Amino acid sequence: MTPWRAAAASLLLLFAPAVWATEHCGGATAWQVLGSGGPELNGRAQSGHVLWLDGKARALFDAGAGTAVAFGKEGGRIEDLHVIALSHLHSDHSADLPAYLKAGVFGEREAPLPIFGPPAGGGFPSLDDWLAALIGAERSAYPYLGGFLHPDGAPFRIVPTTLSLRRGEITKVFDDGTTRLLATPVRHGPVPALAWQVEAGGHAVVYLGDTDAREPALTGLAKDADLLVANLAIPEDSDDEVANALHAPPSRIARLAAQAGVRRLLLSHLMRRSEQDLPHALRVIAGIYAGPVDVAYDGQCLRLDARLNASDTRHTP
Ligand SMILES: [Zn+2]
Repeated sequence: MTPWRAAAASLLLLFAPAVWATEHCGGATAWQVLGSGGPELNGRAQSGHVLWLDGKARALFDAGAGTAVAFGKEGGRIEDLHVIALSHLHSDHSADLPAYLKAGVFGEREAPLPIFGPPAGGGFPSLDDWLAALIGAERSAYPYLGGFLHPDGAPFRIVPTTLSLRRGEITKVFDDGTTRLLATPVRHGPVPALAWQVEAGGHAVVYLGDTDAREPALTGLAKDADLLVANLAIPEDSDDEVANALHAPPSRIARLAAQAGVRRLLLSHLMRRSEQDLPHALRVIAGIYAGPVDVAYDGQCLRLDARLNASDTRHTP
């Protein structure tokens, strides 16, 4: 620990009880919604979720606007993250990444932080190029954060990996012994995008991100998962061709959940159009998928242990 960090830590001890007394989502293995919205400013934070393991925020999935504040509010610490996975580089899934990193300056992290994301395509840069444009030491949006990409890393190094994966294949991209990540490419209109399966503490969660969910490999990715997190961004009878190429209707999400045999389905990325259709969407889904269905709200915590099926969640459409 550097001297200034030691001094800061001793100061923090004066105020620690109020912080540490908070009951976090992460008493066991749990999935928490940091942001249940999409790109609209509809009262929901944008897209972001965190996997808790042994009381610590272990893996972050997407980093939309508002999620960094939620992460801190829920007791998340940058020091505890083993990995960050970005589904794609739309702003409602990535805009807060500099906020997470900058917050790390004031923490104690020294270990490198792996970040995974999509390749270039459809007018979008690769993860590596996006990070260089965002926080590169020169000609980026935030050159003062360039230390994170420096080989020596200051205050710590991020390790970006652009994933150019083969369609139809499920690839293990990360495994540190406690947290394993699988990924497969998905269709999100022209936007390069990835769906994820994370396994930790003996539980598996599949996070689809934004996708039309037509990719056959998704059934294998989600097979027997404890939780499938799907983005409900369009109504069942959407006639918006652009939106339909980007997102999956409720019936397709339900068929995936049923075919994969997932234990629970969480619907997130709520937008005005999908919220207005929610009662209909839930009826459609119930006709196809027999398992429990949750509608995400900001801060929602889903325990993945034996209490998963107890009523420790609320449905707040
Ligand atoms: Zn989105």
